[in-house]
Amino acid sequence: MTKTEYEILLKRIEDNLSNAEKQTSTRFELPAVDVMWEGQKTFLRNFAEFPRVLRRDPDKVLQYLSKEFAVPAERIGDKAMFIGRRDPDDFTRLFQIYVKDYLECPTCKSPDTKIVKENRISFLICEACGAKSTMKGKYA
Ligand SMILES: [Zn+2]
Repeated sequence: MTKTEYEILLKRIEDNLSNAEKQTSTRFELPAVDVMWEGQKTFLRNFAEFPRVLRRDPDKVLQYLSKEFAVPAERIGDKAMFIGRRDPDDFTRLFQIYVKDYLECPTCKSPDTKIVKENRISFLICEACGAKSTMKGKYA
């Protein structure tokens, strides 16, 4: 290996490390939102990817978005339709909040959790550390 090759390799490792650091706020990687407008409607074309990655009920995820936007929403196949125009950033922001409020274990920050209902109260059970927490989110 020449000196240059070694330097390139070293640089690459450093870049990877700094990328990893940037993601420590949440280990969870959300898909990029794919948004399309039609008149006064917004279509989230890859809606179905989110409940799959989040491992949550698609109806609950849609209900959450609909309540947060305060507009009616509807699932059309893998897409979701919202009344009014919404920026892709609006969706990204809401999904990030969703991860914090509905997914992340408050104890160990793991996104590997599931929701259980007891006496109509939703709890977050962490599959990583076993903690049982009350949910921050309202639409579980
Ligand atoms: Zn945990």
